[in-house]
Amino acid sequence: MKNLFKNTPLSLKGESLSREECCRICQEKKGIRIGIADYWDIKTCNIVRCEKCNHIQLDPMLTEEDTNRGCYAYYIEESQRTSEKEQFKNCIRNFRRGVVFGWMLKSRRISPRNILELGPGSGYFAAGLQFIIPNVQVTVMDINKEVLDFNKEHHHFETIRSIPDILQTTYQDKFDLVIARDILEHVTDITKVFENVYACLKPGGLFHFITPNGYEDVWKHYLTFKLKGVPSELLINHVNYFDGKGLKNLLIQKGFSPVDYYTHTLKTTFRGQGRKENLKLMSRVSQKMSAALYVERKADELKRIEFRKSEILNKWYIRPNAKWITCLYSLSHHFSVIRISPVRNIGHEIYGVFEKNLAN
Ligand SMILES: [Zn+2]
Repeated sequence: MKNLFKNTPLSLKGESLSREECCRICQEKKGIRIGIADYWDIKTCNIVRCEKCNHIQLDPMLTEEDTNRGCYAYYIEESQRTSEKEQFKNCIRNFRRGVVFGWMLKSRRISPRNILELGPGSGYFAAGLQFIIPNVQVTVMDINKEVLDFNKEHHHFETIRSIPDILQTTYQDKFDLVIARDILEHVTDITKVFENVYACLKPGGLFHFITPNGYEDVWKHYLTFKLKGVPSELLINHVNYFDGKGLKNLLIQKGFSPVDYYTHTLKTTFRGQGRKENLKLMSRVSQKMSAALYVERKADELKRIEFRKSEILNKWYIRPNAKWITCLYSLSHHFSVIRISPVRNIGHEIYGVFEKNLAN
């Protein structure tokens, strides 16, 4: 264990430069270039670490148009790569994680009524939460119509077609809980997103998110640039790589207080992610993959999840009349015993629950 911490927190080195766009958190104009990424064949961006707040971002940032095109290409590429069996498993896994989250709320005597989930994917996380707290009203927000249709069909959730960067004035002070699992790393304006989440929440409401530890997530791109001196391939639009301390500071600055904040899963850290300069950990050298190839030619081959909810939840441990069995089973699979302060910037994933302050 001691050895593991020896090279961490790592320092991502590079040359200082004047950025094309200033830092979206602190408006700083200077940065350290730690990598170059090709987002498909759509755009080439520097990966820049802010000298002032340590936030790592693409510079220039992707535009909405770049993102829409790249995300759709990725959606098709991923669906071809992921087997039906795997998609099925992911739904049930997310359901169990929702059960664990619901159990955590219940054990603290928190019972939200109105929930907003940003980027819900299959919606099974919120479904798991609803299984434990049956009275919750769930609304989901996504830009992708197929995602919204799926959520409506499977779970009867309310839907909003939008992105978290845009303020929804009709939903001000409406929600008791906002969920953003694996979303924050994708948004172009993180400051605005936090302001919007704050506006949507009732005072005392909770904000739950998970997001990769930025240092481990960016490591592969850093290595490609450092060891080969060339751009790396970026297919999924991770445009933010968070520093554990910087992320917490930003949330506090925007009117939140931490309830739970930790990183877990050290498997990747043991493998060397964020620490070892090893060719095997490098991101693929950019091939400038053609987004058009997927968007225009392979879209017809798109595979959809065809299972029904009753099939997905047909497991011996999912019992509406004995929910404690579901809880125990889910906890045994998804409860993280190891919890490390994200300030150390090690571990795979940052888990956060923050509360909107009563008065600012
Ligand atoms: Zn900054």
